Amino acid sequence: MFAGHFGLAAAVKSRTPKVPLWALMLSTQLLDVFFVPFLLTGTETMEPVEGAGAYGGSVIHADYTHSLAGALLIALAAGWLASRKWGRKGGWTIGAVVMSHWVLDLIVHRADLPILPGNAGGLPLLGFGLWRWPAASMAAELLLIAVGAAMYYRSLPKPPGKPARRLGPNGWAGLAMAALLVASLATDALGIG
Ligand SMILES: [Zn+2]
Repeated sequence: MFAGHFGLAAAVKSRTPKVPLWALMLSTQLLDVFFVPFLLTGTETMEPVEGAGAYGGSVIHADYTHSLAGALLIALAAGWLASRKWGRKGGWTIGAVVMSHWVLDLIVHRADLPILPGNAGGLPLLGFGLWRWPAASMAAELLLIAVGAAMYYRSLPKPPGKPARRLGPNGWAGLAMAALLVASLATDALGIG
């Protein structure tokens, strides 16, 4: 799932203009960014679910990056770093956006998210498994990107004077955001995300 996470970042951007969009976009996917080297070294793994399609059709053993404690730690570190650059509010925003990745994953993942890193203690694995109903899950992602794109577009500073008939810089920025969000949903549908 890329699209839902990005949609949320776009929505947050509309409320925190001080924090740059790239930082929000990166934060919303930060757990998956950390997941890549773990996946490549085989520390964390993915296995396809039999009979499931490409979209959300995997059980993901991201036992470190996507453990509740691991995610909190990454969110805290990212928030602390961000606070040095964008102040207290910026730090809290970035931390919360990093953590939002885990919360959205909790909704869609099949029960594969551990509480402690490495699933220490063998505690129950978490995940509500919305991915088992791809149509419902995709609809939820679409809603997130629609709301995100709309909030982002409405937050762009209005140029003075009469509304321009031609597509101004705002229109282009809004369109670029919408295109990015739709493209990310397409990668999700293909099972890349
Ligand atoms: Zn993830």
